[in-house]
Amino acid sequence: MKREAAIIGAGYAGLACAVELARQGVEVTVFERSRTLGGRARVVRKDGWTLDNGQHLLLGAYSEFTRLLRLTGVSPRLLEHLPLTVCIPRQLHLRAAALPAPIHLAVGLARARGLNWFERFSLLALLRHLKRRRFQLPATTTVVDLLTACSQPAKLRNLVWEPLCVAALNTPVHEASAQIFANVLRDTLMASAGASEMLIPRVDLSELFPVPAARYLATRDGRLFTGNAIAAITPEGTRFRLDGDPGEHAWPQVVIATAPHHAAPLLASTGACAEVAAQIAALPAEPIATVYLALGAGVRLPAPMIGLGSGPAQWVFDRGQCGGPDGLLAAVISVCRETGAQNHDALIAAVLAQLERELDRRLPKTQWARVIVEKRATFACRPGLSRPGIATPLPGLWLAGDYIESDYPATLEAAVRAGLGCARRIVASFAR
Ligand SMILES: Cc1cc2nc3c(=O)[nH]c(=O)nc-3n(C[C@H](O)[C@H](O)[C@H](O)COP(=O)(O)OP(=O)(O)OC[C@H]3O[C@@H](n4cnc5c(N)ncnc54)[C@H](O)[C@@H]3O)c2cc1C
Repeated sequence: MKREAAIIGAGYAGLACAVELARQGVEVTVFERSRTLGGRARVVRKDGWTLDNGQHLLLGAYSEFTRLLRLTGVSPRLLEHLPLTVCIPRQLHLRAAALPAPIHLAVGLARARGLNWFERFSLLALLRHLKRRRFQLPATTTVVDLLTACSQPAKLRNLVWEPLCVAALNTPVHEASAQIFANVLRDTLMASAGASEMLIPRVDLSELFPVPAARYLATRDGRLFTGNAIAAITPEGTRFRLDGDPGEHAWPQVVIATAPHHAAPLLASTGACAEVAAQIAALPAEPIATVYLALGAGVRLPAPMIGLGSGPAQWVFDRGQCGGPDGLLAAVISVCRETGAQNHDALIAAVLAQLERELDRRLPKTQWARVIVEKRATFACRPGLSRPGIATPLPGLWLAGDYIESDYPATLEAAVRAGLGCARRIVASFAR
């Protein structure tokens, strides 16, 4: 059998899969509905500004993702590396020290401003609690249950755990899976100083990986069709035809690497995967809004990324300190169920007022502003969620994406790992 595969979707999962297959000598063809590569992590060009569809934060623990960046020739300098820092102006400053784990955190806590000793020990007590349980928690536990079980004081809940949980899982603490949160803490804070680093892209999210991945594919005879949606998949013996494939080819291997709400109908179109399609369609989705504010050169936040103690935004990134234009801020509102539906001018005004309040200073007049709401940014990472695996009931038809069963919430690393996992299974099936 000719070693060839079709991938539907050029987001991070689809491109990770394509790169790995191409590396292993498989002939790859990628079909992407949009003209822009990257899916939910892509560049957006508006009024002369180059933005992302949403500000992203990566972590040092994203080991497979950073390995792929190296493979596709991306310079490590395209990521701003910062020590784990929670900086909430006038309320909290906690920064991990440049030392091996776990001393990096202990020293960071000892030097922290805004926490009393009881709060510092309480934070360590929660981490000890997880470690004693080998990071295994009952499947039904929420993050709030965990915080209560570990008697976390209100200040730690409000300024540390809630913002970290919402940033990592895009799910509020009272609904978020404690197990997945524990997995994130295990592989970041509790792993090594490098793993807990915060990585902020210095280029747009299409340029960071999708474009180098496309270049990598081009040098290995891979093909990538953009503006080319696949409407349905029809099994034909042991092969598959794709409605929308200009070559009308019968593919031995097909990967559905779309977001869950697009994967479910594609799976259902095969007529043989109704159960998995229903499982995927049932995954709850959460929105994220990013409010971009251009305040002019000279406006600088106290750190490249700061937390905010009150709503609507939870985190603000200073793009000027991460390779972007001076004075361009990106305020992130995770789980923006109500705020995302708000009038954009009102939301911009609310975020500006919040910033002025928390920074305790007047900001210059906004030169330009834009709200981008991603209504189905990620799945809601609730306890006991039933996530599908890579394989489908049809041999040769695979799933890749951030929603595939794994230790992680919906993140770039989860997407990349699912894509790589798929590629390995395909290569193994060619070998049989
Ligand atoms: C606003 C926002 C902020 C986020 N912040 C972070 C963060 O800080 N850190 C982090 O790690 N993660 C973050 N995420 C999550 C991260 O972006 C996603 O987990 C990841 O991009 C998902 O990649 P994917 O490849 O699984 O899916 P997608 O990115 O959705 O890719 C699927 C691709 O398939 C294409 N497609 C769909 N249907 C078809 C079809 N029928 N035919 C052909 N192509 C099709 C789509 O156009 C898309 O390009 C954020 C997401 C959003 C939206």
